[in-house]
Amino acid sequence: MSTPTAGARPDEVRRHNRTALLRRLHVDGPSTRASLAAELGLNRSTIKALVDGLAESGVVAERVPAQRSGAGRPSLLVLPQPHAAVVMAIDVRVEQVAMAMVGLGGDILGRDSWNLHHRSRDPGEVITHVADSAKLLADELDVQAVGVGVSVPGVVRRADGLVHEAPNLHWTDVALGERLSSVLKVPVQVGNDAELGALAEHVRGAARQSSDVVYISADVGIGGGVISNGQPLRGTGGYVGELGHMVVRPGGRRCYCGCQGCWETEVGEAALCRALSLPEDSPRGTVVAELRSLAGSPDSVAHRLGEFTEWLAMGLVTVVNMLGPELVVLGDLFTALPESMVDQLRRTVQKRSLVSRAVGGTRIVSSPLGRDAKLIGAAELAFEPVLGEV
Ligand SMILES: [Zn+2]
Repeated sequence: MSTPTAGARPDEVRRHNRTALLRRLHVDGPSTRASLAAELGLNRSTIKALVDGLAESGVVAERVPAQRSGAGRPSLLVLPQPHAAVVMAIDVRVEQVAMAMVGLGGDILGRDSWNLHHRSRDPGEVITHVADSAKLLADELDVQAVGVGVSVPGVVRRADGLVHEAPNLHWTDVALGERLSSVLKVPVQVGNDAELGALAEHVRGAARQSSDVVYISADVGIGGGVISNGQPLRGTGGYVGELGHMVVRPGGRRCYCGCQGCWETEVGEAALCRALSLPEDSPRGTVVAELRSLAGSPDSVAHRLGEFTEWLAMGLVTVVNMLGPELVVLGDLFTALPESMVDQLRRTVQKRSLVSRAVGGTRIVSSPLGRDAKLIGAAELAFEPVLGEV
């Protein structure tokens, strides 16, 4: 935990401690005053004053734990109250928009989604539909969102939420942050989908205990979100992580980015469909069902997906060599890959990556958050400024 600078005024210190306490409850859930004091390095009277203040304003509540440990008076649990601060999370995908109202503590209070087709992918159409659904959802749940986080599969400028380029959506220079905040009348933060997937795994998923993580986003395109030394890798202007456009196969298929044989053209959804002998525009459900049908037959996986596995491994070896993660999380469509293929990826990366060999094997896992990862990441992006204001 960071500490306020020396000479900070008492109200600044109190505010800092209050934010740290709320963040701890929001991320890790209910806790006793004693554990909060120990974890945050604060004395009991400071914790008591903070908890009493938050309880008075309805942000937390205190309850007797369901399971008592030992004799004597049980320690009360401090619980975040979901309705005390609600944010709206929006996950704009190539084929679908999903949105959710998420309460303090991370519970999804309600959600909505709709499919996108060619015409409804227009940014104006998406913004109008989001505004309509936001109102319906807020009325239905009787909540008011105090912030909004949006995940977009594209190159996003974090400062103002400009979507510079989202090729699979056919969006160029869309001022999404500004346009949404003028319609929704609350602050809107926009992030790249893979970066938000990484954030979600770091806060609530497979990467909670890891400081160096790469999240591989596999939807129509391929992207990467990187946590380095506990912090998101941002790049210049917030533009980073276009792992799908590293060339793994010189002279391979032409990519819209201008290169040939990008990782995305070799292991994106269309490539996976080709490897499975399915039409390239097969519905996601068909692709996932086909992958699941192979789960118990490692020989069929090796036979039908051997070359696909090789290109996927080749990209992962480079990613691990360049970024040195302790953990690689395979997201989205890749969570449906058969376990025998993921084992093969682990073996190949350990065999061929110098970095992986040096650390005794880089962990590679499927995302436990699955298709919700970007929605959860968008919610956490919206919560960042909110936790200091509740
Ligand atoms: Zn490319």
